[in-house]
Amino acid sequence: MTVKPVTLQRSVLWRVMLIVSVIVWVVAWLLLVFLDTESVLSTGPAMFFTGILLALVHGRRYHHPVWWLAMTNLFLPVFFTTLVNLYTWSPGEAREPFIYMGSLAMALAMALTVKGWHIGIKTFEAWQCQQCGYALINLHSDQCPECGKPFDPQTIAKLQVDIQSLPD
Ligand SMILES: [Zn+2]
Repeated sequence: MTVKPVTLQRSVLWRVMLIVSVIVWVVAWLLLVFLDTESVLSTGPAMFFTGILLALVHGRRYHHPVWWLAMTNLFLPVFFTTLVNLYTWSPGEAREPFIYMGSLAMALAMALTVKGWHIGIKTFEAWQCQQCGYALINLHSDQCPECGKPFDPQTIAKLQVDIQSLPD
C-alpha cells in the first residue's frame, strides 16, 4: 500500500506540542488569576508562539482538533491585545474580562487538546482521506470534498472492489 499514514514521529511531535500547550495555558491562567493581569504580557506571546508551533507540526490537517487548538492559541492573545487597544483598558479594567474569557478559552483549549490527543496517533485507513479521515468511497472526484486534499481515485476504486468481493 502506497498510501502514507500519519507517521509515528509526527504523532510524538504532536503530543509533545500538546503537552507544551497545556503547560502554557495552565501557567498563563494561574498567573492571571493568582498573580496579576500584566502577566499576560509574557504569557500571551508564549501562547501565540505555541500556536505557531502547533500549526507547523500539524501540517495542513484542517478541521482536526489540534488545528483548532493552534487557531485558539493564535487568536486569544491577538483578541486580548485588540480589546486593550480598542477600549484602552488599564490592567485593573482588563482583569475581569480577561479572567472570564480566558477561563472559557482554556476550557475550549483543554477539550481540543484531549480530542486531538486521542485522534493524534490514529492512522487513517487506505480508503480514507489521509489528511482528515473522510471516507473517499463512491466519489467522482480526485480531491477530498472535506478538506480538498488530492487523492488517487484509482487506488480507492481498486480497494472498493476488494471490499465488495469480501464474503459477508
Ligand atoms: Zn480530507
